[in-house]
Amino acid sequence: MGLLRNSLCALSLVAASASNAATLLEPTLHLKPQGAEGGGGRVALTLDACGGKTDTRILSALVDNRIPATIFVTGIWLKRNAEAVEIMRAHPDLFELENHGGRHIPAVDTPQKIYGIRSAGSPDAVQAEVQSGAAALAGAGGPAPKWFRGATAEYSPSAIAMIRRLGFKIAGFSVNGDGGSLLGAKETARRIGAAKDGDVIIAHINQPTHAAGEGVVQGLLALKRKGMTFVRLDDAEGIGNDGTTD
Ligand SMILES: [Zn+2]
Repeated sequence: MGLLRNSLCALSLVAASASNAATLLEPTLHLKPQGAEGGGGRVALTLDACGGKTDTRILSALVDNRIPATIFVTGIWLKRNAEAVEIMRAHPDLFELENHGGRHIPAVDTPQKIYGIRSAGSPDAVQAEVQSGAAALAGAGGPAPKWFRGATAEYSPSAIAMIRRLGFKIAGFSVNGDGGSLLGAKETARRIGAAKDGDVIIAHINQPTHAAGEGVVQGLLALKRKGMTFVRLDDAEGIGNDGTTD
């Protein structure tokens, strides 16, 4: 009976938190397709640096193969990865650094957990996450960020409106390349290698021990062999849904 009661309690807790939780949006982002005029097509590679370290397999491959990328960095990551930041800053033609928040806290203004990560939980906390991420980038000496992507890439609709008012476009994606860096190398390579004209790819550059990073490199090289052009978000008119770019 004790066990049954405990599980019923657990169930009612789940129900209570679900009813208070905001409906979350995971916006998409596409580039205007290049179409027939443009040859092999173009894609945008976006890489999140949530926290942790730098996957130098990916960073070296981007430099060696001259593949441009938009890197979404947090304040936490910037502080711990000065060497990688220096390499990115040394190649301003390749790397655009954008805002992934100060502390990698989901931009959701109601208290809830997303993939086990506690949300910002209030409008003020969302604003602090966005502005502290921008301040960290400014402190690292680069151009002011124009794009924001929140931790987990999920948002409450009211948080999206606030981030737009703060002056940022919100970077969704159209190809989930590495499944939060948890996929194997083969599946990651397959997903990225299958990107089509106009796609925006998301993957991670902060998990050097994960097999996914090897797949990111393989997938990118496959796209390059097919004649795909890589662009950064500041080079292309990205079109997002859910009010993220308009
Ligand atoms: Zn992240």
